[in-house]
Amino acid sequence: MNIPYIYEALNWASSFLGESGREPQAAVWLLAHKVNTDQTSLHLDRGERLTEEVWNAFQKDVKTHASGVPVQHITGEGAFYGRIFSVNKHVLIPRPETEELAHEVIQWLGRQKSGSVRSGVDIGTGSGALAVTIALESESIEMTATDLMAGALQKAEQNADKLGAAIEFIQGDLARPLQGRMFDVVVSNPPYIPVDQWEKLDDIVKVHEPRTALVGEDEDGLSCYRKLAEDIPAILNRPGLAAFEIGMDQGRQALAIFKQAFPDDEVWLKQDINKRDRMIFVEKR
Ligand code: GLN
Repeated sequence: MNIPYIYEALNWASSFLGESGREPQAAVWLLAHKVNTDQTSLHLDRGERLTEEVWNAFQKDVKTHASGVPVQHITGEGAFYGRIFSVNKHVLIPRPETEELAHEVIQWLGRQKSGSVRSGVDIGTGSGALAVTIALESESIEMTATDLMAGALQKAEQNADKLGAAIEFIQGDLARPLQGRMFDVVVSNPPYIPVDQWEKLDDIVKVHEPRTALVGEDEDGLSCYRKLAEDIPAILNRPGLAAFEIGMDQGRQALAIFKQAFPDDEVWLKQDINKRDRMIFVEKR
């Protein structure tokens, strides 16, 4: 092909990606990033010709993604709750399920008396998506974020800086470094994939995303929730909310773990938009 028009380049790339078992729509994300525009403008400009330089670079990116590298690792960016987060191999790429968790927490914050929610913590923050989003969506909250991995904390700090959120970062295992402190809001999307399911994941996840952010290192993948259930009762204020993302097969068991840890409080399970068990909430009223 000579230097193609935008629509021709997209047609080529989406069929190439589709034939490689990837999402054809990724063609649009990759080209939009390459020419530094959004998807709408790209479609409006579809009758324009690419430059040779962009065409060559775009073909390379499309082939890289076809070979299994996530789009977000090629662009270095992942979208979360309307903001762009920088990502790399040290952090989980932000997922839409987690946006739903953020949304629920933000809705809860909106129902509290103005200014009454002062402190929050995101346990196992990864890219910082949850911590930064909650910090920026609430006027009164001071956010803290923990992660076990130095590489993740570095990325999270970079995202907080870039997006203008003042967050305190602490390195350590789940809630352990928070002992002796109290928070009005606790959120966590810990690793929860059972060990034996790791091998079955698509290469695009298994080869490129951090195992430590994905695998709950035991048979049922629930080990992090068991640890969190031990530590969180002592760090959650009353009134306060704790919110967790869980795997779709973990609803019943995760609910039982947190009901046992908070016998006198409201504990409930919520499904995501795909009707899969996805979130656990604990509210101290
Ligand atoms: N939802 C992620 C996935 O299935 C898992 C996230 C996690 O382990 N916290 O890829």
